[in-house]
Amino acid sequence: MRIAIDIDSTLHHYWDQFSHAVREQFGIDMPYEGQTSWGITRLELDQIKAAVLYTHSDEVVAAAEPYDGAVDVVNSWHEAGHYIHITSHRSDTAFDATTRWLEAIGLRYDDLHCSFDKLTRCRELGMELLVDDSPVNLEGALELGMMGATIIHPWNRELVASGRVIGAAAWPELGLALAPLLHRAA
Ligand SMILES: [Mg+2]
Repeated sequence: MRIAIDIDSTLHHYWDQFSHAVREQFGIDMPYEGQTSWGITRLELDQIKAAVLYTHSDEVVAAAEPYDGAVDVVNSWHEAGHYIHITSHRSDTAFDATTRWLEAIGLRYDDLHCSFDKLTRCRELGMELLVDDSPVNLEGALELGMMGATIIHPWNRELVASGRVIGAAAWPELGLALAPLLHRAA
């Protein structure tokens, strides 16, 4: 199977980095549990952009800790012959730092794309499954005929509960939930 995998809030707990940046720069608290929708209405667009830019600096990218089991599960998919496309909505300038991070955590993949046209690229590459926390990306993937899966967060709980995408609280469980699907495709 051809699998596209997001980075932020999918391979690591991005929210802590983002909320830290927002608190430092603007003095605003953004509790994780309070973020129950994808839109961030408490911040101006410029503030969101500044915080996101900070989180994609070389230092912050390098400091990310992968979720428990994430690397093992993805590597087991790669080992089984599935195509792994890592895709992140982050500027191309973060490509080198992201490559170094993936190498440092030991994640095996076939290609990496840092850009703001994730779904277009997924379609061009013939992706069949998108693992991504964003309900917007997941809905878009479903519309393009892809399957969707995610680590469950407050902002995608409702979509997972709808049964339209596969969700799990953590990577080992997500790996188990996707195993039948991947086994059939192998
Ligand atoms: Mg994400």
